[in-house]
Parts: sequence; structure tokens; C-alpha cells
Amino acid sequence: MFFKKNRKQSAPADAPAGGQARPQVTARAVPPALAGVKHIIAVASGKGGVGKSTVSANLAVALRERGFSVGLMDADIYGPSQPGMLGAGTDKAGITEEQKLTPVNRHGIDFISIGLLMEDDSPVIWRAPIAMKMIMQFIGAVEWGERDFLLIDLPPGTGDVQLTLAQQASLSGAVIVTTPQDVALGVARKGLRMFEQVNVPVLGIIENMSGFTCKHCGKETAIFKEGGGRAMAEQLGVPYLSSIPLDPVIMMSGEEGVPVLHQDKGSAASEAFLTVADNLSAQLDKHASAGGKEPEQMSMTDKGELVIDWPGGEQTRHTPYNLRLKCTCANCIDEDTGKQILDTGRVPLDISITDIKAVGRYGVSISFSDGHSTGIYTFDHLRSIDESGQQGDKGQSFSV
Ligand code: ADP
Repeated sequence: MFFKKNRKQSAPADAPAGGQARPQVTARAVPPALAGVKHIIAVASGKGGVGKSTVSANLAVALRERGFSVGLMDADIYGPSQPGMLGAGTDKAGITEEQKLTPVNRHGIDFISIGLLMEDDSPVIWRAPIAMKMIMQFIGAVEWGERDFLLIDLPPGTGDVQLTLAQQASLSGAVIVTTPQDVALGVARKGLRMFEQVNVPVLGIIENMSGFTCKHCGKETAIFKEGGGRAMAEQLGVPYLSSIPLDPVIMMSGEEGVPVLHQDKGSAASEAFLTVADNLSAQLDKHASAGGKEPEQMSMTDKGELVIDWPGGEQTRHTPYNLRLKCTCANCIDEDTGKQILDTGRVPLDISITDIKAVGRYGVSISFSDGHSTGIYTFDHLRSIDESGQQGDKGQSFSV
């Protein structure tokens, strides 16, 4: 995981030769409680009632069925449904001596929910600051341990709670649940923008309640419009992860607290969840092989060059001047034409890096001595602008 190896070490604060403050490379602030989780994936929807919680629970079980270790965070603190969906009964989350929360395990899934912390099922009306505090507890005070997946069942919409989670939980990606008739592209686009804003890739769209599966003959009939999710995915340019049928068994399984895969294995509904799980894994693999791989280490030389060690032994080097010229932010590149609008003649030749912060798991934001700080450099981009073939500074480097 990004910076994990060196997380405990921090860049020395002492000034290098020349008296200038040495720029810090700030590691992504991975909450320690989430540090052992490989993929943290938000399950989001534009509005309530589209089956986001149902999909989260059953997708978690489908991933488990495929051999992954899976946790589930019910971040829908205003309407927690996971205790019911997963059949927690009267079980509550535990609290360790160190004041950490221990999830409840059902159907092979460790999960946490506000519903596991309260004594009754009364509807929760949290004021926003309290809600936010609760969410931060879920991010920082739950013992998730080592696992392959943590799914986060987000509250519907794109408000502060969602944005905070997207920013703070170190998401690897997000999936958006929609229904065939929910052709409100604007809503999905808003969700997409929210994730883009925090540099979290949308791994795909899942269309839920896609067609009605007849209990007797197993035949599927499109009750609502067909193909809304796929069309939405195409229009937004994100992958389509498949559909889940509208099936009374799915609804009943939620009521009874037994996920479909543990109730009706081999059914169309179960198979649909397994297909989504497989397509999601495939998307994650694709991301990893497309260069989403995080650096093993980033360091700054005494002369201010950025040196990045990538998995597999590859190393890239970057001078501050070239990095500044290759900034792709909206202030430097025209979003519509892709043409550079940065006046390169105004970039000082002796420009230096003042700060580097990890952004999600896909890049870093770099601040420069000319005051520019809006550029996000994806790892792909950094690899493509490698200057290691050119004459470089061989000064001593330090780890972050
Ligand atoms: P959300 O989390 O988006 O608010 P829920 O997961 O709570 O939505 O689902 C809303 C209702 O729809 C629940 O009663 C659930 O059982 C039902 N439901 C969700 N998906 C399906 C489906 N594919 N087939 C049948 N009923 C479904």
C-alpha cells in the first residue's frame, strides 16, 4: 500500500545545504485502522430506495464467496439497514479496552453500523457535527485488521458526510447503484463529480431492480425501462458492472437477514451478485495493471528533485521545473481543447517544490515555490514524464 512501508518515518525537518527548508513529502493520511485493507470501496447512490444497502450486503457476501476477506461499514447513519440485512438480531458491536469498536460477524462478513451501537431501532436524527463525529469513529476506531475488501454503504446523495468519507477513508474506488428508471443522469453525474473532486475513480455502475424474475419459470421481464444503468455508464464514460434483477427473494432475504447467496444459491439473483463481484474485481485488476500501482517510496534529493521508486524496481526522477511545466490542472491546461495555457516563460528556472501530498491512491498534489499548488499528478502521468534518462542530481535522498 502507498507509503505504508515508510509511513512511520517522516522527512527530517532540518534544512538542507543552502539554508532552504527541505520540502516535505507528506504521506497520505491513511487512518491506521484502515491500513490493512487492500480495497476500500464506497457503494453510493444519488437517492435513497434504489437498493444501495441491499447491493452492499449481497456484494459483500458475493466477494466473500469468491474467497476474499470482506468487511462492511454501514455509513448510512440516518437509516442504518445492515444489521437487519445481515441478521444481527440483538447483537451489538464490542468495545475493546483501547476504546476500539469490534465489528459483528454475520455470514462471513465483519460489519459495523450505528444500528449495532444503539439500544433500540428508533430513527436517528443526528445533527451534522455529531453525524460527522460518528463517521470519523467508523473510519478511525474500528478494528478492521488485514482484509481484501471493505465496502462502505454510503448515505444517499452527495452531501458533507459523503464527501468527508470519500476524502478521509482512503477510498480505492466507488460504485454507483442506480435503477433502470432512474435516468436522472444529473444525479449520477453529481456523484461522479464528487468522487472526481477527491480523485476517487468510479469503478462502475450497477443497475438494480433491473427486470422482474418470475418465481415459477425464472423468466425475466423488464417492468421498468430497460438498460438505464448501461446507458448511464456509457454517457458518463464509466464501466458498467452488470445488473441485479428485481426479485422478491432479494427483498425477502433483506427482511430475514439472510443474504441471497446463503438463501438461494444458484438462483438468477445469486448469480447476478457474483457477476457484479467478478466484474468489480476485474475493474480493480485493470486499474492496477493500467499503472494505478502506487509508488513504494518517494523521496527528495538535496537539490530538490523528486525521485520515485515504483514496484518492480523501476525508478523515475523529476526536476521541479519540468514538473511545473507538465502540470495538467485547469489553470495550466485548457479543459476543452487540452492546450497548454500556462505561460511557460514565467516559470522560474530555479523553481522548487515546497510540498507534496498524496491524493487518494492515484497521485500526488505538488506545491511549488511560485505559489502554484492546484496540480494533481497521477502516477500514470508521473511515469510518463520521467527524466531519469537525463542528467540528474545525484544528491543524497531521504525517505518519506
Ligand atoms: P437504499 O439503501 O438505496 O435506500 P435498500 O437497499 O434499503 O435501498 O432497498 C430498498 C427496498 O428495496 C428494500 O425493501 C429492499 O429489500 C428492496 N430491494 C432492493 N433491491 C431489490 C431487488 N433487486 N429486488 C427486490 N427488492 C429489492
